[in-house]
Amino acid sequence: MSERFFLDQPPVAGEVTFDEAESQHLAKVMRANVGDMVVGFDGVGIEYQIELISVGKKKVIGTVRQQEEVSREAARQLTLAVALPKGDRQRWLIEKCVELGVARLIPLLTQRGVAQPVEKAIERLRRAVIEASKQCERNVLMEVAEGQTLEQVLASQPEVALMLHPSGDAIQPATIAAAGQVLGIIGPEGGFSEEEVAQAAAAGCQVVSLGPRILRVETAALAMASLVTIPPGP
Ligand code: SAM
Repeated sequence: MSERFFLDQPPVAGEVTFDEAESQHLAKVMRANVGDMVVGFDGVGIEYQIELISVGKKKVIGTVRQQEEVSREAARQLTLAVALPKGDRQRWLIEKCVELGVARLIPLLTQRGVAQPVEKAIERLRRAVIEASKQCERNVLMEVAEGQTLEQVLASQPEVALMLHPSGDAIQPATIAAAGQVLGIIGPEGGFSEEEVAQAAAAGCQVVSLGPRILRVETAALAMASLVTIPPGP
């Protein structure tokens, strides 16, 4: 069975119990049987080879046969603070950020923002992180933080902070290459207000452009992620 299953609890005395959603997936969709071997991951870096010892419709239990720390994280740690788009575009953005190795996503509250990151929406995004991690074989879950204001985000003081803004300065790849941690700040469809741009610049943030075309929020976020997380060739 090549699919991967998320473990929301660590093994206890070498045994794991899958949560209801993963158990249903194993039992009903994968038609798993006792004795099958499956791969589990705990979201903090460990991958497990698990033999199933009990398969119920809502509860599947297995024994850990092997475990190993397997990192598929990006060398550079990227936090993206994003004024989230609406509806399905949020889920798509999350999925691609997970695939590209973004470490942390902060829903950003802005003056012209359209989507309010309420608790239920954040929960949905966290579930989407798990689904994407299963698919792309990432073993560490991307963190989806609670919503933050620009002021809160700017207070985090990363090595390099970049506010993406169409009329900003040209982006300098060397700045990114030299940093271990990068913060990228992406605005809403209506863009950042002049006041927000000035606030970021005053806090030491570089205000940078990704070129002459206006990108949608998701495109800007993923372009930033590719610049930071994809390692250059030799
Ligand atoms: N009319 C808005 C403006 O001028 O800011 C367009 C906003 S754009 C649809 C949404 C967000 O994506 C922007 O706030 C910015 O963070 C980012 N973005 C889009 N195109 C960009 C570009 N060419 N350079 C830098 N950031 C860009």
